[in-house]
Amino acid sequence: MGERRRIVLKMSGEALASSASDETIDASMVERIAVEIARARDELDLELAVMVGGGNIWRGTTGAGAGMDRATSDTMGMLGTVINALALQDALEHQGQVTRVLSAVQMAEVAEPYIRRRAIRHLQKGRVVVFAAGMGNPYFTTDTSAALRAAEIEAEMLCKGTHGGVDGVYTADPRLDSSATKYDEVSFMEVVSKDLRVMDLTAITFCKDNGLPIRVFDLMGAGNIMKALGGEPIGTLVR
Ligand code: UDP
Repeated sequence: MGERRRIVLKMSGEALASSASDETIDASMVERIAVEIARARDELDLELAVMVGGGNIWRGTTGAGAGMDRATSDTMGMLGTVINALALQDALEHQGQVTRVLSAVQMAEVAEPYIRRRAIRHLQKGRVVVFAAGMGNPYFTTDTSAALRAAEIEAEMLCKGTHGGVDGVYTADPRLDSSATKYDEVSFMEVVSKDLRVMDLTAITFCKDNGLPIRVFDLMGAGNIMKALGGEPIGTLVR
């Protein structure tokens, strides 16, 4: 039996929010994403771990900007990601996936603690792993956490699904500059030197140092999760 490909999918918390209403978590959005994740995992027979963000609930910088202690505010953000992880778990299980939420902040009644070997074991058994609470440290983002976990579990790729309508890496922000063009492929160095804002710098340099390629794609487009996880040339490959 051949080895299955192992991939980490990063999705922003905002992908779970409603664009139409002001729902923090829109069950129909969560379901839509869960359907796509489940289909991709089954058809591609992947080992799949998902890192979910928390920006729909709270961002550490929001509180810090308003005078809160940064570490406290970041902890609130991490707890937000746990709420999202549970929503995603619920939706994935409705799609017939066996899932485990592994939290970087201990919360024994709610989720298993993140233990690297346990995460790998779940993946080998065909369970979808949902990482909650980022990496458990303030001052970091879930993008950096996704990169860290991908390296730890020896994933071959990090797939970063965007939600704001930007479907890859552009020469400039396409929402502000109509002459911006999309890269099919771009190097880590270029992303850093041109400040291309794919992910935060900490995440990018971590991926560079550890040779972890990133596929940036539009999470919300129908069929896109399947294409990205399947290694099709969608969005932009950073490597
Ligand atoms: N966070 C943190 N450490 C981590 C991961 C996340 O402190 O390891 C906090 C941070 O305050 C961040 C918030 O959790 O703003 C939500 O995560 P993020 O902004 O990455 O979510 P996304 O933008 O992907 O929805």
